[in-house]
Amino acid sequence: MTDEVKSQRPEGEAAEAAEGFATLAIHAGQEFEPVTGAVVPPVHFSSTYAQDGIGGLRSGYEYGRGTNPTRNSLQTQLAALEGGAMALSFGSGLAAEDALLRALMRPGQKVVLGNDAYGGTYRLISKILGPWGIENQPVDMADLDAVRAAVNSGDVPLLWVETPSNPLMKVSDIAALAEIAHEAGALLVVDNTFASPYLQKPLSLGADIVVHSTTKYIGGHSDVVGGAVVAKDAEVGEKIQFLQFAAGGVSSPMDAFLTTRSLKTLAVRMERHSDNAERVAEYLSGRDEVSAVLYPGLPDHPGHDLAARQMKRFGGMVSVRFKGGEAAARRFTEATRVFTLAESLGGIESLVNYPSEMTHASVKGTELEVPADLVRLSVGIEDVEDILADLEQALQAAAQG
Ligand SMILES: *Cc1c(COP(=O)(O)O)cnc(C)c1O
Repeated sequence: MTDEVKSQRPEGEAAEAAEGFATLAIHAGQEFEPVTGAVVPPVHFSSTYAQDGIGGLRSGYEYGRGTNPTRNSLQTQLAALEGGAMALSFGSGLAAEDALLRALMRPGQKVVLGNDAYGGTYRLISKILGPWGIENQPVDMADLDAVRAAVNSGDVPLLWVETPSNPLMKVSDIAALAEIAHEAGALLVVDNTFASPYLQKPLSLGADIVVHSTTKYIGGHSDVVGGAVVAKDAEVGEKIQFLQFAAGGVSSPMDAFLTTRSLKTLAVRMERHSDNAERVAEYLSGRDEVSAVLYPGLPDHPGHDLAARQMKRFGGMVSVRFKGGEAAARRFTEATRVFTLAESLGGIESLVNYPSEMTHASVKGTELEVPADLVRLSVGIEDVEDILADLEQALQAAAQG
């Protein structure tokens, strides 16, 4: 991390253009340690940095809330993978969203967001930022005329979309939304948590900012909570960076290290998640107990063609609705064995979640309410035969109730 030692790899955009995703994931921001040659850079736990005389900083390092080499390494890696000018790593996805919203909005302004946004995002915007004067308008992101009307009503600096959405698996047109936002002088924010940068690159489709819960696919092992913002322009990134520094929602060195380690295998994990989820979606589609399988990889999904254009594959998340309604959905959820009943998603292990009482309980009774007959599956990377056998026995249990 000292300035005398040069990176063995080219930095910046030239490197990004020349190298593939998996190469960047493994090498961007991961230069070996200059003194010993340790191939994996050490984790820097130090909260502060010695100064050579007052103000004599080494490579700009001053205090851990502002900069930390382990966090920087993750941020370089994330910026390279999303194709942004700057990435910032936070202590959670919601801390990242909070910093982004407060850095780019002022009281009296309005954020237009999808009416199927993640429950926690809507709770942050309505319950926390609402009382500070931030207005919001949920809209169906598939209705582009409604989005255009909303973005042009009032003072709207941000249009916010999640695609595919959690847990309804709706797919929204990033390029079309970017055009609508830009015509109105707004920025488009994409929550890319479900796709991950391996499957979808919102900045290359016209979006201005990407936000992640890195707790999910990027962390990928259900052992770290984190979030990130990636900005296409450095100027926008610097505003969010200032808020991060001034308000302090940074990720810890150990969390940043775990996230960096996980990002290195994102490409292979997403391929396997997609393989397994495709099999699960096909399997469930053929079952009598099921009224709908929500997976963009299925040809009858309303967002299938769009997803095929803007995503590399369709990812690991599958939602399923039951003919037997809430009772069948609950029995199924409690009967799985390979799928652990838990909140969260995106880890290597399969998880099952009942959104209306778990992850999305906070939006009950609002426009964003999730149907009670819906179960969300985060399909892991176990052997697919074991996953399918588990679903079979859980469907039988659900039918018996
Ligand atoms: C989990 C999640 C978040 C919030 O992230 P945390 O890391 O839990 O704070 C935001 N958006 C989506 C789509 C999520 O799934």
